[in-house]
Amino acid sequence: MSSQQAVPIKIYPRLTTGRFNNVRVFMVLATQLVFFGLPWLQWNGRQAVHLDLEQHRFLIFGLTFWPQDFIFFAALLVICALGLFLWTALAGRLWCGYSCPQTVYTQIMLWIERLTLGDHNARRKLDAAPMNVNKFTRKTLAHGLMGLFSLITGFTLVGYFTPVRELAAAAPSLAYGPWESFWILFYGGFTWLLAGVLREKVCLHMCPYARFQGAMFDNDTLIISYDNRRGEPRGKSKQAADKARGSCIDCGICVQVCPTGIDIRNGLQYECIGCAACIDACDQVMDKIHAPRGLIRYTSAAALEAAGKPNRPSSSHRPRVIVYSSLLAGIIALSTTALILKKPFKVDVLRDRAVLVRATDDGLLENSYNLKLINTSEQAQRFKIQVEGLPSLRLDKPGQVVEVAPTQTETVTVRVQAEPEHATRGAHDIYFVVSSLSHDGSMIREKSSFIGE
Ligand code: SF4
Ligand code: SF4
Repeated sequence: MSSQQAVPIKIYPRLTTGRFNNVRVFMVLATQLVFFGLPWLQWNGRQAVHLDLEQHRFLIFGLTFWPQDFIFFAALLVICALGLFLWTALAGRLWCGYSCPQTVYTQIMLWIERLTLGDHNARRKLDAAPMNVNKFTRKTLAHGLMGLFSLITGFTLVGYFTPVRELAAAAPSLAYGPWESFWILFYGGFTWLLAGVLREKVCLHMCPYARFQGAMFDNDTLIISYDNRRGEPRGKSKQAADKARGSCIDCGICVQVCPTGIDIRNGLQYECIGCAACIDACDQVMDKIHAPRGLIRYTSAAALEAAGKPNRPSSSHRPRVIVYSSLLAGIIALSTTALILKKPFKVDVLRDRAVLVRATDDGLLENSYNLKLINTSEQAQRFKIQVEGLPSLRLDKPGQVVEVAPTQTETVTVRVQAEPEHATRGAHDIYFVVSSLSHDGSMIREKSSFIGE
């Protein structure tokens, strides 16, 4: 993969229509429906997806994740990374072309520009014209709308962390705290800057994925390519009698629609984000000159080399595909099993270090502990606390039962006592056994230590 040409300073991509454009429009709408709609979804009377940093918990539909569940987020990151490797090996830059947020938001900003400033030619002329009232008004309107849309994305992002209905209720008076205000402006400003101003420059100069994905490509990876064999020698003549000419009539429309301003006829280039706009454009040209579609098409290097053969599906029986798939399947299976077996509560034991050990009136040695009971389920739970590990070990309140509300945390202080002859000087391993009376058989045994003297 190489960079073969100088990309213009500012690109005014021509609008395309066609089947791949339809897929792109669908992906823009689908991703935005999920992004903007999810925070408003309710689940058991609360926000279905609430990343509640204040309470140190993530509520995702019926699941609650706490900092102790970090392993699930680590697994999710590994799954995403491996998924991207596998996807890239199989499908090249399909992610970039259809679902990368940079592509999606750039597309939305282009729609706003077309609405307010006109098509690619009108925008080019407007930029070349000296500043006047008309230019100033229209540019202000375009960037005002892009800025407004960006702020709504910032608002929505913050709505995943602060209940979105509370945010919306505070919107008329702008009664937001510093945290909310900062992130709405920061994320909104970033969206406007990246998608409204920098656009393809982010893909060309800032995105690391574009740089390292070449290492994940092989001859069977799905790419968008111009069929040199069929297209060359290119030329303006499309006379049927001109048998020497290839199918490319050198109209340049594939370059005009390219959002990164490259010419796909120069071969595979890292600047190509795989958006397929050039396929749609060239197919329309082929229709007009009554030539078969597919001069530019989804194919693979191996399929192109196989002279005269039509597209062949990319082979999935490749070492890297098998390795990525096996690792991915293994991690997904392990994470799913762990998720299914996940206990509906957690227990953290903290020894009260202020008072190591004290003697009670009836001659027992006593240690004090703080038990943090985390109810990770959607129902209230009652917990029975027991202690074991030394012969005479007992709680000062035997049979103590604690009730914890759904998805809440309760910290209780418990005192553990033992006969002095069983708790000699030093630390002794003991275990808190916490059973949920609401979930039969659900029990956690948490290790701690008892200090004797
Ligand atoms: S759109 Fe098709 S015919 Fe026109 S220049 Fe590009 S490859 Fe050639
Ligand atoms: S070369 Fe074609 S597929 Fe690649 S970015 Fe340009 S228009 Fe999109």
